[in-house]
Amino acid sequence: MDLEFSCKNCGGSVESEIADLADEPNIVCPDCGEEADPTQVADVAGAAEELLATASRLRGFHVRLDLDSAEDRPQVYDTIDEADDEEEEDLDEDEF
Ligand SMILES: [Zn+2]
Repeated sequence: MDLEFSCKNCGGSVESEIADLADEPNIVCPDCGEEADPTQVADVAGAAEELLATASRLRGFHVRLDLDSAEDRPQVYDTIDEADDEEEEDLDEDEF
C-alpha cells in the first residue's frame, strides 16, 4: 500500500510504500525540498500498517480507505491546529 504525501508548502507530492517508510521514514518534497519529521513519518507508517493488518482480518469484506488528512482530521485536532496555523483565506463561493 502506498501513502501519498502532498507538501503543505508548495503542493508537490511524494508517494511511498508503507513498508519502505517503516525502514526509512524520510519524506522530502521533490519540488521545494521540504522535509518531514522522520519520527512523525514513522508514526504515520506504523499506524497505517496497523490499520492495514486490522482491516485484512475483517471477514467477508475488503476495506478501501480514502484518507485525506487535510479534510478528514478529527475535530479535536482542529482546535489544536488553530493556534499555530496561518489564517486560511476564505474561498469565495461562485458569485454570479
Ligand atoms: Zn514542497
